Amino acid sequence: MTTSQSGYDITPLSSERVNALAADFTPEERQVILHQGTERPFCGVFLDNKKTGTYVCRLCGLPLFKSGTKFDSGTGWPSFFQPVDKAHVRDIEDVSHGMRRVENRCARCDAHLGHVFDDGPAPTHLRYCMNSASLGFVEDGQPISLKS
Ligand SMILES: [Zn+2]
Repeated sequence: MTTSQSGYDITPLSSERVNALAADFTPEERQVILHQGTERPFCGVFLDNKKTGTYVCRLCGLPLFKSGTKFDSGTGWPSFFQPVDKAHVRDIEDVSHGMRRVENRCARCDAHLGHVFDDGPAPTHLRYCMNSASLGFVEDGQPISLKS
């Protein structure tokens, strides 16, 4: 078992488990989460979410971002300047679409989350540009439970 500094089991899930957890996703959700798609801007359910809590991986429940690190980037996608735990969000170089970008995936289930750019606000100056489809939300006071 691999445990992150923040105390979560980040042992990678098998592809069989990932497929089982994704079984009830819509085609659009599968395209974003499993095939590195991007949802249309200004239509995701979490863009204007102002509640206090934790954004988790839609597929496996791993905590990814705290509401306190969310900011309005004007891009039309929910944006954060810092992950809950650096070990929860994996960076992958993405050279598709003629651009050199850094893709983010869930460290545990490999779900596509979005991309990170270096034009965010202080203190990190990072902008994690996420797809709402890739996220779940757990309000403060509710338990965070990993799916396994
Ligand atoms: Zn995950």
